[in-house]
Amino acid sequence: MTEAAAATPDATNRTDILVAGAGSTGLAAALSFAKSGMRVTLVGRIPPPLPGRTVALFEASLRFLDQLGALDRVRAQGCRIEAIRMIDDTDQLLPVPELTLSASEVDLPALGINISNDELVAVLLDLTRANTAISFIDADIVDYDFSTGATAILGDGRRLDARFIVAADGRNSRARAVAGIDVKEWTYPQIALTMMLRHEFPHDGVSTEYHTRSGPFTLVPLPGTEAAPHRSSLVWLMNVDDARRRLAKPREELEFEIEDYAKSEFGVMKIDSDIGQFRMGGMQVSQHGKGRLALVGETCHVFPPIGAQGLNLSLRDVADLEDCLASIDLQNDKELSRALARYDRHRRADIGFRTHGVDILNRSLIIPYLPVDLFRGASFIAVSALGPLRRAIIREGILPHIALPRLMQQPIETMDEAHRRAS
Ligand SMILES: Cc1cc2nc3c(=O)[nH]c(=O)nc-3n(C[C@H](O)[C@H](O)[C@H](O)COP(=O)(O)OP(=O)(O)OC[C@H]3O[C@@H](n4cnc5c(N)ncnc54)[C@H](O)[C@@H]3O)c2cc1C
Repeated sequence: MTEAAAATPDATNRTDILVAGAGSTGLAAALSFAKSGMRVTLVGRIPPPLPGRTVALFEASLRFLDQLGALDRVRAQGCRIEAIRMIDDTDQLLPVPELTLSASEVDLPALGINISNDELVAVLLDLTRANTAISFIDADIVDYDFSTGATAILGDGRRLDARFIVAADGRNSRARAVAGIDVKEWTYPQIALTMMLRHEFPHDGVSTEYHTRSGPFTLVPLPGTEAAPHRSSLVWLMNVDDARRRLAKPREELEFEIEDYAKSEFGVMKIDSDIGQFRMGGMQVSQHGKGRLALVGETCHVFPPIGAQGLNLSLRDVADLEDCLASIDLQNDKELSRALARYDRHRRADIGFRTHGVDILNRSLIIPYLPVDLFRGASFIAVSALGPLRRAIIREGILPHIALPRLMQQPIETMDEAHRRAS
């Protein structure tokens, strides 16, 4: 189907896919279904800026963004992550070696790219607006009707009929609630403070995680500017009282404390953005789709930002759903129900693995219990010493072992190859 033909509504004025929510996941979903020839309606408000927030996107996500036409701009605005250093800073009994996971170990030039959330949303929004197969409605959905099909209802009473609804409306998803999908939620006694920093010494494309008793303190590389050649973003997990205390401090004192946490490895630190604060929690759903609805992104998984897995997982939800729905007749209930069962099976495994992995690592840091410390320390030692294990972990983080959806299979050009092609 051509894009122009796809944009023309049919006699019933029904769109093929209605995407609820215009965050990063919803925008990626709209672009991905439009790419597969479907008529898409995207309903959601343009997301407000997220202070100090960046997102590290790994190889599988970059392949997907390449297929959506977003990779060149993401590369131009983001910074390559060539390695991740993990430093145990819990003062535990067992001396734990520093662990480095490098792209070169798995024959890749980089593990991924770190880009500001706002820039990523802007790139995806521009592509969405330019795509004639997508109708973008800047509004909230107030209700849904799944009694005879899939209908979204807007505040002004408009009813939007769709063959299928993709819910990307975030952790408090209205679509999920109306469909009656159960959730299990829990909280962690932590807040993440986020900000952009300028520093004295270069990061050399390395993301550095200090694992402290209040959670990870993670510096992620950002591109330099003329005025500030060395920049990083910071995601700093801490307990609620410490967050309050630090937010009330004069900036200079906070900058000094940040330098201290980073062992002065990057020299003097200067805060270069507003500071964001995000309560830490977790969530899992009982099913990832029901009837004519599928859940993607934070509608179906929430966990703390450890190992930069959240949006990478969300993009896998989208690419996987596109795979499951691509070859079926959306009007055939039997085919649809089989496709959704397949989607649910895939997502249950991938999401469950990440949610539990992050939960165990986070709790193992904040609960000072000797056997847990010893287990975490021994795991670090094993991964440092055993090359095959380390390489398997790197691959799992950036290019998971699950059968990758079609839109994540095509390897991307390296930056050098892209430059050669352009010149
Ligand atoms: C501190 C921090 C650091 C992180 N770092 C990383 C990282 O490095 N790498 C990574 O992969 N992930 C990271 N994540 C996770 C990642 O940022 C999130 O998974 C991602 O932003 C979620 O995007 P989303 O589109 O699913 O949800 P949201 O961004 O919450 O979008 C949901 C959208 O739905 C809209 N909406 C809600 N209700 C309605 C309605 N009724 N009608 C229409 N629209 C509606 C909202 O307005 C919103 O725009 C991090 C998270 C945190 C907190």
